Amino acid sequence: MSTASTSTPRVLVYGSVNCDEFFVVDHVNSRAQLRQRECSIVRPGETISSSSYSRRAGGKGANQAVSASKAGASVDFAGAIGADGGWLAKELEGYGVGTKQLLVDDKVATGRAIIQLSAKDADNSIVLFPGSNFSGNQGRTFDWGSYSHLLVQNEIPWAETVAALAQARTAGLATFFNPSPMPTQDQLRAFDWTHLDYLLINEGEGQDLLVAYGAEPAPGQPEETLLRLRTVLASSTTIVMTLGANGVMAGLENGDVISAPAGRVQGKVVDTTGAGDCFTGYLATLLVTPATTGEELRPLLATACQAAAMCVEKAGAMESVPLRAAVLERMQ
Ligand code: ATP
Repeated sequence: MSTASTSTPRVLVYGSVNCDEFFVVDHVNSRAQLRQRECSIVRPGETISSSSYSRRAGGKGANQAVSASKAGASVDFAGAIGADGGWLAKELEGYGVGTKQLLVDDKVATGRAIIQLSAKDADNSIVLFPGSNFSGNQGRTFDWGSYSHLLVQNEIPWAETVAALAQARTAGLATFFNPSPMPTQDQLRAFDWTHLDYLLINEGEGQDLLVAYGAEPAPGQPEETLLRLRTVLASSTTIVMTLGANGVMAGLENGDVISAPAGRVQGKVVDTTGAGDCFTGYLATLLVTPATTGEELRPLLATACQAAAMCVEKAGAMESVPLRAAVLERMQ
């Protein structure tokens, strides 16, 4: 692991960036709505109008890069856009994220999510096209000496993620992996956990991991889940499991399980989208040096939880991540 002594981590985030397109739909005036009152988004064979449209930058990699930048890290985002993705590079730069590792693959469209939201209820549907996230990120290599931390997710080719973690670890970087969406069971079982310093998962992902290794899941029992994961992963990896409104728990190498409550939400919860990405970018940044004991890790978890709690106060993912100074002020 890196022993960087400065308080500014140099983070490489290697992952996805998407153009997220939101269409709000309301069936109220459509004939289909009269026939099928139970469904408020488009059904097979239908065409309905959207009452509002917006386009935002997204992708777990880009979201986490923005979060790390807002938390105070020096961040480069390594990913790939298509010829239509220039605005995404500008957006990332606007958040202080370096784009010198961002490739342009002009033979394919930028990764894209078409998100249909019901105007009336919680119904939604998402079509995800990986586009340049897959075709552009092939066989990439990095100057690892320029970075202290590597942060990866699972929205680019699995082989790239695995190779980057192994290379970064060999080069002495601190390695962070948020395996979302969940890799296949075969991929997980073949994964070398000794390449990983910090595993960041939510509770559902914790259960999926146990199942992938043939262990009994323990839904609703986060401490037990962490203890079982410690046994099945058989590595020194620190396992950090987020628990939504219940905060976070972490399983340390020494077998201890610690927790931190959710941060304070001012007003009501508006949108939890991206809370996990906000938490992950913050925690990676706060771990300037390794935290091996509960005393070291607990205050960092509390700060990352406060950042994520502020993130749910506003709509959106990148735009709702708070700046570090605001998080610290809220914690006083
Ligand atoms: P997402 O996929 O929506 O980004 P996730 O499933 O990866 O989220 P969660 O465990 O839901 O992750 O949330 C991540 C962190 O965000 C939690 O550990 C917590 O600190 C914070 N958080 C989420 N929901 C709330 C809430 N309702 N109130 C306060 N904090 C919250």
